[in-house]
Amino acid sequence: MATFKEFRNNVKPNWCPGCGDFSIQAAIQRAAANTGLTPEELAVISGIGCSGRISGYIHAYGLHGIHGRALPIAQGVKLANRDLTVIASGGDGDGFAIGMGHTIHAIRRNMNITYIVMDNQIYGLTKGQTSPRSAEGFVTKSTPSGSIETTLSPLELALSAGATFVAQSFSSDIKQLTALIEEGIKHEGFSIINVFSPCVTFNKVNTYEWFKENIVNLDSFPDYDPSNRIQAMTKLMETGGLLTGLIYQDQSRKSYENQIQGFKETPLAQQDLALTEEQFDHL
Ligand code: SF4
Ligand code: MG
Repeated sequence: MATFKEFRNNVKPNWCPGCGDFSIQAAIQRAAANTGLTPEELAVISGIGCSGRISGYIHAYGLHGIHGRALPIAQGVKLANRDLTVIASGGDGDGFAIGMGHTIHAIRRNMNITYIVMDNQIYGLTKGQTSPRSAEGFVTKSTPSGSIETTLSPLELALSAGATFVAQSFSSDIKQLTALIEEGIKHEGFSIINVFSPCVTFNKVNTYEWFKENIVNLDSFPDYDPSNRIQAMTKLMETGGLLTGLIYQDQSRKSYENQIQGFKETPLAQQDLALTEEQFDHL
């Protein structure tokens, strides 16, 4: 068993001082230690964006992938070595714009992966353009008269795509975030955790103060039942998607890889996948 310090490496993050991504990095390291993992049992796969750098800042296996493609790579890693705990990570632009096709299908496929989205409601790395998560009317260099597009509601979309674990948190609430990542790692199947992570340099609207005033913590609803999908959808809609906590969990569905014949015994990378002559004749 490792301490969270063992998930640190000597690479100094080059995020702007105050960026929400620092706390997400710390929460992943703490959650990994709390779930009893060692660095060699964890793989962190990221996409492109400020958020994508995270795989280089955690002492574990890691791959800084290509834009919007963290999830296909993460699923390949999991299929090749089922013994690894796989965390995929990226920003809202990465996962909900160019990567949205992969996100939806990864959700419905339900592989045993935890996907952490660092949602700052803007493109940070390219110096501040409107993302699918930006609010209507949001003014940036790409929408100087204000965005006229509808804001994407990723967790409503996740619920309708058949997600088995849906959570949301705020980078400042590191206690809640760490606990949710731990739950996501333990969940059998795909867990999506959207994390509000303020971009202090380019997003002057959705600031720490703005989130503190507007987010609604599920702790204020003691009767809330996270196994009720309709209630989850309703609460998300009622709160304008600003709900934090464990929003939905379905523990009845098996993960994708645990339904593949022989996968439990032998990882795909070690299986003989060549067709027999008879199978070949049937092609
Ligand atoms: Fe963070 Fe924004 Fe700076 Fe990127 S530009 S490191 S998202 S504060
Ligand atoms: Mg972003």
